[in-house]
Amino acid sequence: MIKRNILLINPWIYDFAAYDLWMKPLGLLYIAAFLEKFGYSVSFINCMERNHPALKRNQEKKEKYDCGKFFAEEVEKPSSLKDVPRRYKRYGIPLPIFEEELSKIPPPKLIGVTSGMTYWYPGVFEVIRRVKSFFPKALVVLGGIYATLCSKHAKKFSRADYIIEGRGEWKILRIADEIFRIKRNYSSLLKKREKLLYPAYHLLRRVDSISLLTSFGCPFQCTYCASRILQPSFYQRDPEEVIREIDYFVRNFRIKDIAFYDDALLVNPQKHILPILKKIIEKNEGIRFHTPNGLHIRYISKIVAKRLYQANFKTIRLSLETSNFRRQKNSGHKVSNKEFVQAINNLKEAGYSSREIEVYVMMGLPGQSLKEVMDSVKFVHSLKVKIKLVQFSPIPGTKEYEKAVKEYGFNKDEPLFQNNSIFPLKKKGISFQEFWEIKNFVNELNLKLS
Ligand code: SF4
Repeated sequence: MIKRNILLINPWIYDFAAYDLWMKPLGLLYIAAFLEKFGYSVSFINCMERNHPALKRNQEKKEKYDCGKFFAEEVEKPSSLKDVPRRYKRYGIPLPIFEEELSKIPPPKLIGVTSGMTYWYPGVFEVIRRVKSFFPKALVVLGGIYATLCSKHAKKFSRADYIIEGRGEWKILRIADEIFRIKRNYSSLLKKREKLLYPAYHLLRRVDSISLLTSFGCPFQCTYCASRILQPSFYQRDPEEVIREIDYFVRNFRIKDIAFYDDALLVNPQKHILPILKKIIEKNEGIRFHTPNGLHIRYISKIVAKRLYQANFKTIRLSLETSNFRRQKNSGHKVSNKEFVQAINNLKEAGYSSREIEVYVMMGLPGQSLKEVMDSVKFVHSLKVKIKLVQFSPIPGTKEYEKAVKEYGFNKDEPLFQNNSIFPLKKKGISFQEFWEIKNFVNELNLKLS
């Protein structure tokens, strides 16, 4: 029988900074599970494997809750980023280790490569260039966020044979079936509405923690966010099914940490998160839960806060972005300051300490003054919780992207200009020096929290 091998690769990140906050190649693991279900044999290379056996020093450097620094090597800065006074790096396994991994794999006919942030595409291109020279007969299919949001750029420059935009399971299956000459009745399969498969974590070498999704997309439409473009309809899974998935991973992988990477974990709390939390509390298995993606503040009622605490949610991050009323209203109205104050009170009453609550504040939005950023920072600090300052990244297809193009005047054809480290260079009235001063100021405020 001809082996139907497919190789899937999670590429490197090329950027000024990257940190492993339960960063799993979740989309690609869903694709892997789907292909396996339809009879394909899948090999997997994770270029972002922080604990690769060849990286001994990294293995020893374990940080809290299975997070930590990636191995990184400085690489030449692309000319469009040359004015950014920071070191540009390739994050992930070194190149020779990648080649060694390729040499262990039976030659595939098809290679699937995913992509994350649009401006990380140099890592994607590096993978495609290398696999094409290693397996010259294989065809390469590229999907993921960059391929979806910058499909023209990907088609023109990536050298991939196929570009997939949006959800990729069925599209890659059809491509694979065509290559391996397999006939299937897709319309009857689609009608069956297959149950969601669990991401194929068994393909990763070592799994100490996992990331999960209990829902897809978000019912809001903030002007700076691509959630709607990437996932047009909001869909929440059955809470019972989520609990079964958690049980499966706890039993089979002996993990201690689970991160929920939902865009909208708390929406419809009565029907969704509260039944999930109730079951987690009943089971009481000592698993630590984390919400790195930022929670919707307005849904943190007294009961939600209490249940989150009882269920052992350790990392609580909230998405405030700004305390400016006008901007809150005009950018999607996902939260008000009143709701924010109430949510903080509820979380503290439930048992969370000041240092356990982190709040995202955004800087660099088009039309946003330094004063607005400082006002937001001071407002968050006045409630005695940690501030997590994030830099705006203009995402193609969003309203803020168009405004940013006008205000910052960057070239729309070059996704590297979407890097969030760019804006202090482009924004009028702010220098890199001032940018670092704000960052240091925020660090000092956070240190003051008891
Ligand atoms: S609420 Fe969050 S995930 Fe939803 S659109 Fe706004 S920023 Fe995006």
